[in-house]
Amino acid sequence: MNTSVYNSLLERIREIPIVNTHSHHLPDELLISAGLKDILSNSYVNWMSPPPDFDNLNACEEYINKNCSNTYFRWLFKAFEDLYGIKLSKDNFKELDRKIKEAYADNEHHIRILKENCRFEKIVNERQPNPGSNLGRPELFFPSFRCDSFFSAYLKDKPDPNNFFAYSLFSKQEINDITDFLSEVKNAIANKKAEGCVALKVAIAYERPMSFKKTNLLKAQRALNNPQASDEEIIAFGDAVMHTIADTAAELGIPVQIHTGMGQLRDTRPIMLLDFIEAHPDTKFHLLHGGFPWFDDTYALLHNYKNVWSDTCWIPYLSTTAAVDYYIKALEVSDTHRMTWGCDTWMSEDAYGALLAMEHALAKALAIMIEDGAFDFDYAVYIAERILRQNALELFFA
Ligand SMILES: [Zn+2]
Repeated sequence: MNTSVYNSLLERIREIPIVNTHSHHLPDELLISAGLKDILSNSYVNWMSPPPDFDNLNACEEYINKNCSNTYFRWLFKAFEDLYGIKLSKDNFKELDRKIKEAYADNEHHIRILKENCRFEKIVNERQPNPGSNLGRPELFFPSFRCDSFFSAYLKDKPDPNNFFAYSLFSKQEINDITDFLSEVKNAIANKKAEGCVALKVAIAYERPMSFKKTNLLKAQRALNNPQASDEEIIAFGDAVMHTIADTAAELGIPVQIHTGMGQLRDTRPIMLLDFIEAHPDTKFHLLHGGFPWFDDTYALLHNYKNVWSDTCWIPYLSTTAAVDYYIKALEVSDTHRMTWGCDTWMSEDAYGALLAMEHALAKALAIMIEDGAFDFDYAVYIAERILRQNALELFFA
């Protein structure tokens, strides 16, 4: 890769205002007097190691030595350096914590990072356990309505994994017929759209396999209000819910964001959505994370189905090197109008870290493609603008 082309591209990328297509940003009340421990615990690095005791220098040193190869860690600590002017060192944890607490005394601090440092113009946010919340900041946050609660609601008193009850959105509180249940789902989605939701989100890959069979109303009916329902009947119920979500999204003209890859890792490959996507040609599918680590599946879906978009959120943060490869191959098999990026984080420092990872990966990928003769510098800038802003505006805000 040509370093000077990479540097010039990075500079141009850092001038682009961003429409962030997937985030879980926390509300103000959960960020009051936040410190370093809160950030580390609410960030992806916590999935690798819990934060060390900042008074124990040996523990801090071990934490650094263990995690320096990890991309969440690498970019989050780069974010701390940029935002708070403190370099990564076992001796600096307490000072960093003090600076963060001082900054968070101002309630607008976390929003300033998003708007000024991250250049986020709009954020498609998915907030549990308040699906559809705009965090009281409608100028910045545009909710994606998480639909997972409909899958658990075969039992009225069964919440989704984030403790949200689907029936809190329903007008009828006694439902005995699957058709009535599915029309309540439809109405709930229409209401959420009317309240300002710009997308639907399904993260059911954390709970069940991603293949959704044709609706079998008889089988689905057997799960409704039945605590003894078999696994097969519960799956059939979920299949019916998923098809209703896709139909409703098509009618309302809003995209369905689907978590792919990772999750429970069992049966979460994007290609498992093949029949489902084929059954809904009028629904816009925004597939998240490239199906990491099963990128090939997403390439195939992008190539064959023009109603499939790929959101590259999380990929540069999971593995920056894999992301470089993903940007190149996904662009090669599809076009420049169906890729987007979101930070997929809970806190602003992590959002900034995810942004740094993406900017690096995208600049590197485009520099490699220029060197390979695919296109010139100006067209690379055009692609970056499409991925970071224009594609998202057209998909969610047109
Ligand atoms: Zn997410």
